[in-house]
Amino acid sequence: MRRILAGLRTFVGSGLFQMPDHPPNRPASRTSKTRDPVLEQRARDMVRELAPSLAPLIVVGWNSRMRTTAGVAIALHREIWLNPALREISLEEVDRTLLHELAHLLALHRHGRRRLAPHGPEWQQACRDLGIPGEGRTHQLPFTARRMKRRYLLRCPGCGESHGRVRVPRRRIACLSCCRTHNRGIYDDRFRFEVIRIEE
Ligand SMILES: [Zn+2]
Ligand SMILES: [Zn+2]
Repeated sequence: MRRILAGLRTFVGSGLFQMPDHPPNRPASRTSKTRDPVLEQRARDMVRELAPSLAPLIVVGWNSRMRTTAGVAIALHREIWLNPALREISLEEVDRTLLHELAHLLALHRHGRRRLAPHGPEWQQACRDLGIPGEGRTHQLPFTARRMKRRYLLRCPGCGESHGRVRVPRRRIACLSCCRTHNRGIYDDRFRFEVIRIEE
């Protein structure tokens, strides 16, 4: 227990992490938090070999109260909460944020007794181990792009839903809702967005 508390202090004391929406010692009855079994399983699978004792403790879900923060990791409870707005951006963005936060839990699990810089070498190593080397240090949603003029539409060949984009995505991204409905939330090329140029 002492170790966990020390870990929490490390986490919160850095000043760079957003505090949980509710302090851990208060019941979370009024929250808008919803656990997501698919993402939770993905997170657990990702660390199962890296940290077998951590994996089964991990909780992942959505917090609809988040505004500009993409995701938070709450060390004490091994929780990851994501902003539902990520789903409107892309499946890729959801997964990237999930792994970013998971790297925080993994780094703290490995180095719990030490005072860690939030995005220091231990976190960066965890990112490499989770397959996201060079991950950025921000926890903010990529909202800046939304204020720019959207020149492209990404259209899902499955459900036909489309999303405006400022530029063509560099990596392959697919429709989150279709991937969740038809492929257990895993990327599926059948639902890869078609890029449509908008004429001005
Ligand atoms: Zn971070
Ligand atoms: Zn779709």
